[in-house]
Amino acid sequence: MGAGSDKDNNPKYRLGTRLSHAARDRNLTQGGVNPVIQRASTVLVESAAKLFEPGGWTYGRHGTATHEALKQALVEIEDTQHCALVPSGLLACTVPFLAFAEAGAHVLVGDNVYGPTRRWCDRTLSRWGCETEYFDPTIGAGIATLIRPSTKLIFVESPGSMTFEIADAPAIAAAAVARNVVTVMDNTWSGGVFYRPLDLGFDISVQANTKYVSGGADVLNGAIFTNREPLNSRIKETIADLGLNVAADDAYAVLRGARSLALRMERHQSSAQDVARWLAAHPAVNRVLHPALEHDPGHALWKRDFSGSSGLFSIVLKPSQTKQVHAFLDALELVGLGFSYGGYESLAIHCDPQLKRTTTKPAFGGPLIRLSIGLEDPADLIADLDQALKQLG
Ligand SMILES: *Cc1c(COP(=O)(O)O)cnc(C)c1O
Repeated sequence: MGAGSDKDNNPKYRLGTRLSHAARDRNLTQGGVNPVIQRASTVLVESAAKLFEPGGWTYGRHGTATHEALKQALVEIEDTQHCALVPSGLLACTVPFLAFAEAGAHVLVGDNVYGPTRRWCDRTLSRWGCETEYFDPTIGAGIATLIRPSTKLIFVESPGSMTFEIADAPAIAAAAVARNVVTVMDNTWSGGVFYRPLDLGFDISVQANTKYVSGGADVLNGAIFTNREPLNSRIKETIADLGLNVAADDAYAVLRGARSLALRMERHQSSAQDVARWLAAHPAVNRVLHPALEHDPGHALWKRDFSGSSGLFSIVLKPSQTKQVHAFLDALELVGLGFSYGGYESLAIHCDPQLKRTTTKPAFGGPLIRLSIGLEDPADLIADLDQALKQLG
């Protein structure tokens, strides 16, 4: 049971229904609607014969009823077979490198990945003798020319969570399969709801549950999904060997948020599209980077591979001084300044100081601002942006 989470779901129901009804086994809920919060290091084993039974539920580090309930719900999101929990989204990104790379290995990473994922490759993975090569996120089938005999893993984030390029995931997956390279997609932007990388040929999808899945801006958590063995076993062994553990209270918080994920994503989608279209027509804005907008360079791929869009996109302002950009951001009343996204509250950051590229240097022609559109009324957000943009003159 502790090693469970293999799905037994009912495909006849849609996501909102499945998330509302997942994890109702009485062993997990004790008859309540929700699972118990089982805080445990020690688990009492029923008999001496069961002490060493494989797959048994034997020690807190391997999970409790609360973790099992969360995994049963999470596999519904992307309709996957296996789920492994980790204490943060960043660990969901880094664990696959530890599981599938080794000394002397070469890994390929999209040049637009989440900054801390890049820092992991440059600062820590390099110390274990692995070489990271960054590739243009729009490379598509051209990735084949970068694959070497030593290439073990390709890591993609689509869209990039600051610059929003869409990768041609099926083309990358096809090139990787032909050379036996493991493919990993950071699927945090879509919340897992609007994008299913495993259906497009990727081996692994990772999610920072910290963002949309939990939705409350109050817990850090990550998950790793795959439909494949022996990849699933290798991931679970790596997590066990590292001693990674999620607190039962955190697992409970993520599950409570996940129940309303499908509904929230619809609202994030529609509000962000309203705000993005309004910004696209604003004279202080040069460009909007949002793949659901028709003019966006990633729009055709987004339309082909995604079923919707989330609340996160960027805008390029008309050329302005840093102090004007700061005046704009500081004038926002409803939109807070913060590095996260996926919560109910809207957020903004100035991206320029964070953009680290080696293969592709996008020239946006003005300051890049990322917006996370929350669950406020979009008309109020537009009014707030309108008054703050006046700071740009
Ligand atoms: C936030 C984020 C992560 C890391 O999640 P944490 O829970 O903060 O560690 C990884 N990838 C992307 C795309 C993210 O936005």
